[in-house]
Amino acid sequence: MLIWINSPKAPSREFLFLDRDGILNEDRPDFITCREDYRFYPDALEALRWLKNRSIQVILVSNQSGLNRAVITWENFWDTHHYMLQQVRAHGGDILAAFYCPHRPDEHCRCRKPSPEMILKASRIYRIPLRSTFMIGDRSTDMQAAANAGCRAVFLDRSSVVPLEGDSVPGIGNGLMRYSTLREAVVRMWGWKKA
Ligand SMILES: [Mg+2]
Ligand SMILES: [Zn+2]
Repeated sequence: MLIWINSPKAPSREFLFLDRDGILNEDRPDFITCREDYRFYPDALEALRWLKNRSIQVILVSNQSGLNRAVITWENFWDTHHYMLQQVRAHGGDILAAFYCPHRPDEHCRCRKPSPEMILKASRIYRIPLRSTFMIGDRSTDMQAAANAGCRAVFLDRSSVVPLEGDSVPGIGNGLMRYSTLREAVVRMWGWKKA
C-alpha cells in the first residue's frame, strides 16, 4: 500500500473517501500512465473546491495495478500524483491523503479494492467515523470496499466509465445513491447527511 499524507492532522472531523480514476479524471482502459494522460472532469475540480470551502477532508483510495504490471513507471506515477494535486489546489480544492494499491490482482495483496484495507488504514490514522462517512466510486469494487469497511457507498455513473469484464454494479436499487457528476454527488450527499 502506498500512502501519501499531506497532513497527519485533519483540520476538521468531516471526511470523504473518493476513488480517483473515473471520479476526478477520465479513466482509460490502458491506464493513466503519465500526467499527459490525466484529464480532469471540470465538475470534479468544482466539487473539490466546494468540499474545501466546507472543510470536508478528501481522501483518495485508488487501485493502481499499472504500477506492478510495469505499465506505469514509479517516476511517472508520482509525477501524475503531484500534477493532480497542483491542479486541485490551483482550483481552490485540496486532498488530505491518498492511498494507492500498486498490486496486480494475481498478487492477492491485502490492500486492493474491494478489500477495505486502504479505507481502514485511513480511518486508523485520522480516527474517521466510518459509519457516517461516504465513499464515492464508479465501480462495483468501490461499492464493495465501502461496504466491507462499514462506510456508506455512493455510485457515480459517468457515461465515460470504462467497462471492465465482470464489473457489474450490484446493489443499485438497494439503497445505493447514484449520481452522474461528482459535483451533484457531493452537494446532494451533504444535504442528505445534514438532513
Ligand atoms: Mg474508478
Ligand atoms: Zn495492494
